[in-house]
Amino acid sequence: MQNFVRNNLSIDPIYRGRFAPSPTGPLHFGSLVAAVGSYLDAKFHHGRWLVRIEDVDSQRKVTGAAREILSTLERLGMEWDEEVIYQSQRAEAYHEALNVLSKQGLIYPCICSRKEISDSSIIGLSGPIYPGTCLKNPASVKKAHVLRIQTNDDSIQFEDILKGANTQKLRSDVGDFVLRRADGIYAYQLAVVVDDAAQNITHVVRGADLLDSTPRQIFLQQLLGYPIPQYLHLPVVTDAKGEKLSKQTNAAPVNISNALTQLVDALHFLGQKPPAEILEGDISSFWQWAKQNWCVNLIPH
Ligand code: GLU
Repeated sequence: MQNFVRNNLSIDPIYRGRFAPSPTGPLHFGSLVAAVGSYLDAKFHHGRWLVRIEDVDSQRKVTGAAREILSTLERLGMEWDEEVIYQSQRAEAYHEALNVLSKQGLIYPCICSRKEISDSSIIGLSGPIYPGTCLKNPASVKKAHVLRIQTNDDSIQFEDILKGANTQKLRSDVGDFVLRRADGIYAYQLAVVVDDAAQNITHVVRGADLLDSTPRQIFLQQLLGYPIPQYLHLPVVTDAKGEKLSKQTNAAPVNISNALTQLVDALHFLGQKPPAEILEGDISSFWQWAKQNWCVNLIPH
């Protein structure tokens, strides 16, 4: 369904953005920046902002983390416009999408171990490039197997709103990638594409650590006949060692008693230039200023 809204000047497609945290721990400054960036870009464009909990990987999810993230967002004054969806409840939709790809003859089972793959692979943009062993010699599905998608040499190009032109050839840059793991868990790349389409997302604003995943997602969108959203990849927050802030690097949770300061820090990190007095106001005056003055051109590339 396509939604159009009439404003005084022209007819603009409705902007639908989202924040899609993985509930592996509480919100930290790195995820706060992605939340603030996606929220402000949506609100600046008078769009909708959705929240999706990416708990497809049940082994990584931490009990209570999703609730905690949502409550932190609420207390920071970030309201989502539609019901939150949980990937853990969407297996049927992922299964259907996999079937569509399977009917195109692009899915094959693979029984290679990690070691076998790393021993016989060259390293691509996101780890070893699968050498195609089980494509050449079809594997028995009686054994535990992952499902891979066959890639090709076409150039996948897209224009990131912030980072500009991007191109990948999946076969040589990434290789045939996994869509379902041996334990039956659907891969992030498939789940994110199915959900962005199901939620009619028009703009994906997220951390630049996912820039290299975007061509894989566009490839799947093309095969599944989904619209391709616009992408804007924000700078990633790193620690003193240059590592991305994450639960693994022991990032400190957002401290709600200090909410305004942290929101202002996130704005500064995104290159925005709020007046110093913003700290004398409250969360509501903060958002009022930030929504009106959001400027993508100021974000450091
Ligand atoms: N769930 C991913 C994360 O928390 C974000 C995925 C996305 O925005 O596409 O890093």
